[in-house]
Amino acid sequence: MRSVRKTFGESLVLREVDLEVAPHTVTALIGASGSGKSTLLRCANLLEEIDDGAIWLDGEEITDPRVDQDAVRRRIGVVFQAYNLFPHMSVLENITLAPRRVHGVPRAEAEQRGRELLERLGLGAKADAYPDRLSGGQQQRAAIVRALAVRPRLLLLDEITAALDPELVAEVLEVVRDLKEQGMTMVLATHEMAFARDIADQVCFLDAGVVLERGSAEQIFHAPREERTRRFLRRFT
Ligand code: ATP
Ligand code: MG
Repeated sequence: MRSVRKTFGESLVLREVDLEVAPHTVTALIGASGSGKSTLLRCANLLEEIDDGAIWLDGEEITDPRVDQDAVRRRIGVVFQAYNLFPHMSVLENITLAPRRVHGVPRAEAEQRGRELLERLGLGAKADAYPDRLSGGQQQRAAIVRALAVRPRLLLLDEITAALDPELVAEVLEVVRDLKEQGMTMVLATHEMAFARDIADQVCFLDAGVVLERGSAEQIFHAPREERTRRFLRRFT
């Protein structure tokens, strides 16, 4: 992202945001509620139109008005806080929907790939269950499987553990850790500082729509340069 600016009516929500994400790395967005983390992720996925600046994915300027936005979104997986599985479909139906309908993958192939992914994330036994029979953590893992089913280049994760009971948080974070090991490129907004410190290659501290400070997890958490970053992090210790 280069000099990205986003307003909602009168309010300036992202100001001059510069962000570079290297392939196979994890970037954590931290910052107070309302600082712009979700908006940044939504802009990256073209769910929100930016007012100024530009965004590239794999060298292609995706904010160019001539770009096919649906084609761009197909290369980006998104998981939000509230797992949005379709309640009237089994887990397997949920995760094969996009590959079949959007990507034209034949049913048998989509189902085989879906079962493999579920197996990998410890949900093999739940393929034919309906979402209301899964725990919150299992539902969130299924939502991650669904995002992965289209083989995205980039995965955006917005507070994926925020709606979970504390004892379920660990199993979802474990999945993210596995994905990192497999080389998935991820950008995640999180209030789980210990997790961000543990997993992120790059940490960005957002403050009122500005990336106030950016660096390695080591630098941001152990030697923050900005007073506001220090003040924010103090709340978590
Ligand atoms: P949280 O940690 O609570 O999830 P956040 O960092 O994700 O916060 P955003 O959701 O990006 O924050 O919101 C940034 C600002 O933009 C807030 O002031 C919010 O009220 C505003 N905002 C977000 N979406 C809209 C919208 N659709 N219309 C108007 N204002 C919006
Ligand atoms: Mg948010």
